[in-house]
Amino acid sequence: MRVLITTEQIQARLTELAQEIGPQYRDRPLTIVGVLTGSLMFLADLVRRLDIPLRIALIQASSYRGKATTPGALHLGSEVLADVRGRHVLLLDDILDTGQTLHHLIKHLEEQGALSVKVGVLLRKEGRQVHTVRVDYVGFSIPNEFVVGYGLDFNDEYRQLPYVVVLPAEMYAS
Ligand code: 5GP
Ligand code: MG
Repeated sequence: MRVLITTEQIQARLTELAQEIGPQYRDRPLTIVGVLTGSLMFLADLVRRLDIPLRIALIQASSYRGKATTPGALHLGSEVLADVRGRHVLLLDDILDTGQTLHHLIKHLEEQGALSVKVGVLLRKEGRQVHTVRVDYVGFSIPNEFVVGYGLDFNDEYRQLPYVVVLPAEMYAS
C-alpha cells in the first residue's frame, strides 16, 4: 500500500492546526464534536495539543451509499449528544468527500443551539464536493483516491494505522 501522508507529516500538521485553533477559542466555551468513528485519531491527537478548556462529544453519522439503500440518506445516531446550547462547536471529521455528512451535521448542531459551528477535517478530497460546506481547518488536500489509516477504514479495518495510505483498487473491488 502506498503511503500518502506519513506519521510525521500528520503530527507536524496537527501542531500547526492546534496553534491556529487554540487562540480562536480562548475564553469561549468550546465543545469539540467528533464524528464517529473516523475522527477518533484526529480528535485524540489534536485535543492533546490544545491548552484551553474544552469539552469533547461524539456523534454518529452514517451515509448509505450502496445500491440497496436509499442514496444520500444520512442516519444520525439516536444516542444523546452533549448539550451544545450556548457553546461554540468545532466539528471534526476524518475526510470531506461529497460534503453531505458535514452539511447535515452542521445544520443539526445549529438547530441544537450552538453559538457557532466551525469545521475541521484531516483530509479534503479535491473535486468531490457536492454540498457547500465551509471548512475552517484542513489538514491535507488529497487527490480523489480511496484512502485508509489514521481513523479511516475499509470494512472497519485499517483505522489503527498511524499514517494514511491509498488502498489499491484490487483490495476492494471484488
Ligand atoms: P461525505 O459525506 O463527505 O461524502 O463523506 C464523508 C465520509 O465518507 C467520511 O466520513 C468517510 O467515512 C467516507 N469516505 C469518503 N472518502 C473516503 C476515503 O477515501 N476513504 C475512507 N476510508 N472513507 C471515505
Ligand atoms: Mg466517516
